[in-house]
Amino acid sequence: MEEPKIAIVGGGPAGLQAAITVAKQGFQPVVFEEHQRIGSPIQCGEGMSLKAFHDFSIPTTNNEFCVREHKQCQLVFPSNKILYGDIHAFMIKRDSFDQYLANKAIEAGAEIKTNTKILEIRRKPEGSIIKLKGQDKTTYFSHFLILAEGARAKLAQNLSFSSPQLIKAFEYRIEGEWGEDLEFHFDAQDYPSGYCWIFPRDNETNVGIVTTAKQMKTRLDSFLKKKKIKGKIVKKIGGAIPMKGPVSKLASNNIVLAGDTAGMVNPIFYGGIRIGMTSGKFAGKVGVEYLTSLEEGTEYSTQQYSQYLSQLQFMQDVNLKCHNFFYSRSNSFLTKLGKTFDKKSINQITGWEKAKIFGNLLKNPSLLKYPRGLLRIYLGFKIARDWGF
Ligand SMILES: Cc1cc2nc3c(=O)[nH]c(=O)nc-3n(C[C@H](O)[C@H](O)[C@H](O)COP(=O)(O)OP(=O)(O)OC[C@H]3O[C@@H](n4cnc5c(N)ncnc54)[C@H](O)[C@@H]3O)c2cc1C
Repeated sequence: MEEPKIAIVGGGPAGLQAAITVAKQGFQPVVFEEHQRIGSPIQCGEGMSLKAFHDFSIPTTNNEFCVREHKQCQLVFPSNKILYGDIHAFMIKRDSFDQYLANKAIEAGAEIKTNTKILEIRRKPEGSIIKLKGQDKTTYFSHFLILAEGARAKLAQNLSFSSPQLIKAFEYRIEGEWGEDLEFHFDAQDYPSGYCWIFPRDNETNVGIVTTAKQMKTRLDSFLKKKKIKGKIVKKIGGAIPMKGPVSKLASNNIVLAGDTAGMVNPIFYGGIRIGMTSGKFAGKVGVEYLTSLEEGTEYSTQQYSQYLSQLQFMQDVNLKCHNFFYSRSNSFLTKLGKTFDKKSINQITGWEKAKIFGNLLKNPSLLKYPRGLLRIYLGFKIARDWGF
């Protein structure tokens, strides 16, 4: 039986960032990834905020993965009312980005086993027994386990963790650059609990839908028609995303959850790369601390993981409260909200414009009925600007 001190299931951004963190501390983690190639197949809109690059000292130039920089987004409400916002983000090639993280992990001393699906994990007081799928009968025993297996969280569920509630997303990559900014189109009837997006990139555009409604393809096709987007579809991408923020239990004894498995996704825009990597970093840190305390014979609780995460904005309750309030509004409410701000840039509202917006709000008693809800939208969207991707 092979005995890596720390094993990580999942070679996505969360698992790979955990591996980088662990390996840099001199432990040699093993990452198990079921697919043959890290980063493939892509299941992502491929937008990533500048802050994610800064957090992990990732260069934005001279790399394989940054294909376009964006500094503005449009939140488009029904009746085509637009609120502009500053957002500094990049369109990336997600497969190249994940491979970049994998190389960084290997350089630091991690081992990555691709084409290796974990079938079963058995928990023991002193660690986890890991069984592979297929012909390879090798069994692994790891003292500390990080589960970063993505949104479906099957292994986590089998180990009695609760799995995140999911929303589905579907996307086309289309030839040609359609639009200038990152666009988010809200419509409570057509895309309940979500939106359609237009993310222009390098001579191509990612156009997608995330919603709890059925018939996603039909809805996305109607959106393309409405926006007169006619380029050739070169790729279709789909997947599930955690929609209600972190799961209740993030760690137990010598196992922690990271990334989508832990529900580490912004519940308003449903971006999970930055949050996933951040949780991976802390999962790795906790793994190293756990093993060090074992060696030293001192007490350690992996509940420390929640402590580290709790200092970050994306863990605040207001995110989920914003989700619950915003995504339960009608189109009439959203139209009024859009009208209040129409064509303003939220980050550049001057004193005079603030007064005008307040005047607009006063003209809409149906909005003012919800002062707490409006505050939740304001706070949630403010956090989402930083933690949305
Ligand atoms: C259509 C779509 C668009 C999105 N757009 C964006 C966006 O623009 N920006 C953004 O920030 N986020 C976006 N997201 C969310 C983002 O992709 C995820 O939050 C992010 O990939 C989470 O990283 P992760 O490492 O937790 O999980 P994943 O990236 O899903 O990685 C998990 C890995 O575990 C592997 N695995 C699973 N089970 C096993 C097993 N039993 N054995 C071995 N390996 C296993 C999988 O193969 C996978 O490689 C989007 C998601 C979807 C579906």
